[in-house]
Amino acid sequence: MTPEPRRSRVAYFSMEIALEPTVPTYSGGLGILAGDTLRSAADLGIPVVAVSLLHRKGYFRQLLDQQGNQSERPAAWSPEQLLEPMRPSVAVTIAGRQVRLRAWRYLIQGVTGYVVPVYLLDTAIPENTAFDQSLTDHLYGGDAYYRLCQEVILGMGGVEILPRLGHHHISSYHMNEGHSALLSLALVAQRLGGRPLLSANESDLGVIRHRCVFTTHTPVPAGHDQFPLDLVRSVLGVERTRALEQMGACLGGVLNMTHLALHASRYINGVAMRHGEVSRSMFPQYPIRAISNGVHAATWTAGPFQRLYDSHIPEWRMDNLYLRYAIGIPLAEIRQAHMQAKEALIKEVLRRTGRKLEQGVMTIGCARRAATYKRADLIFRNRDRLKWIARNAGGLQIVFGGKAHPQDQGGKELIRRVIDHARAVEDAIQAVYLEDFDWQWAPLLYSGVDLWLNTPKRPQEASGTSGMKAALNGVPSLSIMDGWWVEGCLEGTTGWPIADRPGSAEDEAYEAGSLYHKLERTILPMFYGDPDAYARVMRGAIAVNGSFFNTQRMVSQYLANAWFREEEGEVAAKDPPVPAISP
Ligand SMILES: *Cc1c(COP(=O)(O)O)cnc(C)c1O
Repeated sequence: MTPEPRRSRVAYFSMEIALEPTVPTYSGGLGILAGDTLRSAADLGIPVVAVSLLHRKGYFRQLLDQQGNQSERPAAWSPEQLLEPMRPSVAVTIAGRQVRLRAWRYLIQGVTGYVVPVYLLDTAIPENTAFDQSLTDHLYGGDAYYRLCQEVILGMGGVEILPRLGHHHISSYHMNEGHSALLSLALVAQRLGGRPLLSANESDLGVIRHRCVFTTHTPVPAGHDQFPLDLVRSVLGVERTRALEQMGACLGGVLNMTHLALHASRYINGVAMRHGEVSRSMFPQYPIRAISNGVHAATWTAGPFQRLYDSHIPEWRMDNLYLRYAIGIPLAEIRQAHMQAKEALIKEVLRRTGRKLEQGVMTIGCARRAATYKRADLIFRNRDRLKWIARNAGGLQIVFGGKAHPQDQGGKELIRRVIDHARAVEDAIQAVYLEDFDWQWAPLLYSGVDLWLNTPKRPQEASGTSGMKAALNGVPSLSIMDGWWVEGCLEGTTGWPIADRPGSAEDEAYEAGSLYHKLERTILPMFYGDPDAYARVMRGAIAVNGSFFNTQRMVSQYLANAWFREEEGEVAAKDPPVPAISP
């Protein structure tokens, strides 16, 4: 089925979108979430169109040496083989140059055949300079200048090209993180229709605001894109920079993309209830709500569990809420499906690393972007205690994975530390670090381990989604009470919390102590001593969390709360007051 552009009402902008396992247009959680959102929008038949960049050279493939030093090689791919080139092109002005761009189309087909088009913008057009042609090559590559140019292409180029592709009736522009915030500036220009940008008044900006939605994803201030005003002036010119100042986006000599998006949006949300609270305390002048993240259920459920759900809950793909009824699946069948998933993981680990994991041994999974705040090494805080537990409670294996951003020295150091620790506990615990952990590894790992571990530093985990993928495969979590786990943790029913010392922001020794205590006293004795009880927790994870932490529920909430609210004429009456446009 080909999409009908005239119907598209929501334009979803994201710097990264994970489309397929072998297409390297994403770096981690943000891109996977964007892809899952669009997959669910297609399943639900919601008229959404998406915009991102082509990333012709991809993110990168990770190589690890014996010591755990990461090196990177390009992850090239062939857009020509997977995407359809679109004819129209538009130009954006960057540093006084006219940069031409065009789009490639990828179609996401939902369960009932409804199609959501995704447009990946590309500047590799002969009339552009060599440098401009490279602007859509690297995801999160280059310097601040390169990055700002990319954000002009994404936000402003995206708004320009949509009508040329037939999408004339967009009522909501959704910014997935601040990278695309310049779309608001393009909408102002579009509304003024040739009048000078600086003539925009409050009512013009009010109209723009009623069309914009913003999802913020990080509670870490350093995670918010900022550009020095000198750089902004050189890329966007004096007039557009002045307009951004008027729009309240420039503070302390920098353009802050988060502030621009906050100021330009009618509906703003964080990605978990706790993250909403944290974001409100960071930006108290804005009405920030929260819609908790989810994952695309059919994508992240491994084969053995897909077959199990197909036989017991045939409608789960159409309506993920039915996963609630997993509570009636016999425990023996849950265990059987899990055994198959675990076998598949063990086989692939052996093939790819030469390491032989044991089927009967409790296996912990811990893989995600290697960023320092994720603290993948917390479990090794007291190695002797960990070894003692492994020896006395029945055995332990751990599978790690994750890439560090090429410029993130702290993240790279974290990988080295984990690999170092793994070697140091070798006599008691098998610990493996998977090279180049990505979407191709992920479903095997999320379904094949017995316990998912997440140990971020509070309150920096906005949501986290890997534990949700584990839950869909009947894998309980043991995690820090942050992000989604604050909502998803029912102790002993869906998994276990790692306790934090009340009132203290961070007490690593205390948190590690709680982790060991839970493993030693509760989890390992249950796993080895009472397999039925453990399988009941596995089943609880599916029924309670799989049925809720999916993008079908999440997209339905965006639909009800953010995307089409304006049309219902309820916005002014129900929403909290929005902040003034200019000082
Ligand atoms: C889900 C996923 C992530 C994100 O995991 P978080 O727990 O949200 O950090 C990263 N990489 C891959 C390959 C994933 O599948």
